Amino acid sequence: MKHYNIAFYYFGLAFLFGNIAFTVPASAQESSKPVVVTSIKPLAIIAKSALQDSATVEFIMPPALSPHDYVLKLSDVRKLAGADAVLWIGSEFEIRGAKQFLAIPEKKRITAMNILNLSSKSNSAQSDEVHLTDHHHDNGVDPHIWLSPVLANQLAEKILRHFGLPVEQIFSNGSRKVLEDLLAPVKNKSYIVHHQGIGHFIDAFKLKPALSIRDMLGKQQGAKTQYNLRLEGKKNAVSCVFIEPQHGDKDAKAIAKDLSIPTASIDILAVASGDQLPSYESYIYGLAKQFINCFQ
Ligand SMILES: [Zn+2]
Repeated sequence: MKHYNIAFYYFGLAFLFGNIAFTVPASAQESSKPVVVTSIKPLAIIAKSALQDSATVEFIMPPALSPHDYVLKLSDVRKLAGADAVLWIGSEFEIRGAKQFLAIPEKKRITAMNILNLSSKSNSAQSDEVHLTDHHHDNGVDPHIWLSPVLANQLAEKILRHFGLPVEQIFSNGSRKVLEDLLAPVKNKSYIVHHQGIGHFIDAFKLKPALSIRDMLGKQQGAKTQYNLRLEGKKNAVSCVFIEPQHGDKDAKAIAKDLSIPTASIDILAVASGDQLPSYESYIYGLAKQFINCFQ
């Protein structure tokens, strides 16, 4: 009974100071939460924005490296095995880690690309969804799907349902309107991107399609393509070259120099925020600001 009284006393104090979190020690609370492990950081941003404090969210691929080339370490594989849910894009994207992701039991594995397959099927009925036809390349569709707020909301829904939680949007219509207005002045600007990876962002905010130095998987292109890109750049009066931190900037800087235009960073893997997970809305807002910066 003595214990009960002491506990009751502290509860009373905590209640007075508006803090009742003491009842469960923070560490015990952490360990009882489900653990979600994602491949890339933007997927962790989406999962965290959806699940908030109801799960611990981690990512395994260092944002500063290209996820198309990343080979999983033994410690990564262990993390995946210990997770309650694993979130990845799909074998078209995490190409060199696909085998390990596919080894995760299906009921624990959430494949983001499956959303695209679903929404392209429902697209015939609903025309206002996502345009996929623009990004077709050799082997299918643009896998950088986290850059579409519409698809990010669908992915958030899938994650929340996986844990039996009520569905909420992580990117509101209000935010979309704010960003559309913000981006309106640069809508018709021409530019060059580092690799063909921001198609979904371009589509979502109705920006001008990009010329690209590298292909969709970040591979360098031949000298002829490089030469043609310079010609195209001149013809289209491009005014900026975007550099992605994870792909090295030598080729982008050379083109910018040849065309006498500035470069700017577009941080689609959220390298700059390190281990921190910003909200999905602030991540997309950050990309919009970086996009605008290129033209100032
Ligand atoms: Zn990419």
